[in-house]
Amino acid sequence: MNTTAKPSKYLKGATGEWEIVVGMEIHAQVTSHSKLFSGASTAFGGDQNSHVSLVDAAMPGMLPVINEECVKQAIRTGLGLRAQINHRSVFDRKNYFYPDLPQGYQISQFKDPIVGEGEVIVDVTPTEQIIVGIERLHLEQDAGKSLHDQSPNESFVDLNRSGVALMEIVSKPDIRSAEEARAYVSKLRTILRYLGTCDGNMEEGSLRADVNVSVRRPGGPLGTRCEIKNVNSIRFIGQAVEVEARRQIAILEDGGKIDQETRLFDPGKGETRAMRSKEEAHDYRYFPDPDLLPLEFDQAYVDALASGLPELPDDKRARFIKDYGLPPYDAGVLVMERESADYFEEVARGRDAKIAANWVINELFGRLNKEGKTIATSPVSAKQLGAIVDLISANTISGKIAKDLFEIVWTEGGDPEAIVEQRGMKQVTDTGAIEKAVDEIIAANPDKVEQAKAKPTMLGWFVGQVMKQTGGKANPQSVNDLLKQKLGI
Ligand code: MN
Repeated sequence: MNTTAKPSKYLKGATGEWEIVVGMEIHAQVTSHSKLFSGASTAFGGDQNSHVSLVDAAMPGMLPVINEECVKQAIRTGLGLRAQINHRSVFDRKNYFYPDLPQGYQISQFKDPIVGEGEVIVDVTPTEQIIVGIERLHLEQDAGKSLHDQSPNESFVDLNRSGVALMEIVSKPDIRSAEEARAYVSKLRTILRYLGTCDGNMEEGSLRADVNVSVRRPGGPLGTRCEIKNVNSIRFIGQAVEVEARRQIAILEDGGKIDQETRLFDPGKGETRAMRSKEEAHDYRYFPDPDLLPLEFDQAYVDALASGLPELPDDKRARFIKDYGLPPYDAGVLVMERESADYFEEVARGRDAKIAANWVINELFGRLNKEGKTIATSPVSAKQLGAIVDLISANTISGKIAKDLFEIVWTEGGDPEAIVEQRGMKQVTDTGAIEKAVDEIIAANPDKVEQAKAKPTMLGWFVGQVMKQTGGKANPQSVNDLLKQKLGI
């Protein structure tokens, strides 16, 4: 456990400290080819109104039919959140008018959701974890989209999203800072992507967060909360929590009170703005949808889905620490994406895992980030990086040459071993050749030799010169040993 003093999570106001309390509702688009109650495509980016069935357009007399794939995805997600799976759940109509909601209601789940309480282990830092409770997960339809920018005096509606399956994942108010809020969404996204139940693409709107923020005196009773709607990046979620908490503190310290309301975050201005107040809150008149039977399945159905789940990030991280002896930080970084973890394991198989982790995290991830690439588009394959690690472990090349080699493989491709052979990059372990270089350097620098005798740290200068003379190919240990011996230090 980390016992060093951590900076306080409390915010300082003019009259003392304040604690932030955050709960979140995340809308995650279910990964499935067709919609929740129709066979229309869910593909992103099609022509307007090209993925719309008669059900999605709410034509009279059309009946919704549940898509079993979406049910399976919700159960799999519930299992990944260590949550209660409810064998009986009910679809309700949530009634409201919106131009892009042709039914006049959204089919959702209200009193009886498919998934109940669960939890997420959130990695706030690579060594600090908190548990955030899950209140529920329910299935519901997405709405369409109003288009106001196609014509100066007309608005249009695109129903491609209408009826797409969403999982609304509601957390308990267990989050205490902007940093924890970011870490929670990031971890939830990682879990969904591991499960393959949501692609987590926030730019395309596959994952959006409604963030409930309130402040209170540390340990005091809960304050009135405001809901910040539809925040669509992890960075913005952190900023929204921070500025909204500051706004509420300023009001309270001025003797005012917080109005419970829905607000919007404006990233450009770095502020939240009122959208609608509780006085205008809708009464949705929920009632069970008469077109749909309650959704029922047995434990055997859940067990079959559970047996098909992949290894999830928390288990994978624990295994990487135990089996490969990796530090928790390295293991945490490697399991963030399933593809990265798989890549690492392919490099590490039968090799020194610590060297493999260093190369994947420092060289490969560093380079991928710099070029805006991902593991999937990496020019260096796991097989190639594994071959580079082999050459290092066998002392065929030095660490410095290995970086040059990585660069060649990155830009030109090819078999690392053959490249080393063809371009004469092998480390010189032949002591005769190294000795020759050492002797030349010593002979050419009598003044430095004198200095080194008085000041042994001068050794580093000599090592540098010999390495330069041998094009970085001399074995550093042999160079060190020979120099010490010849300089008498
Ligand atoms: Mn919702």
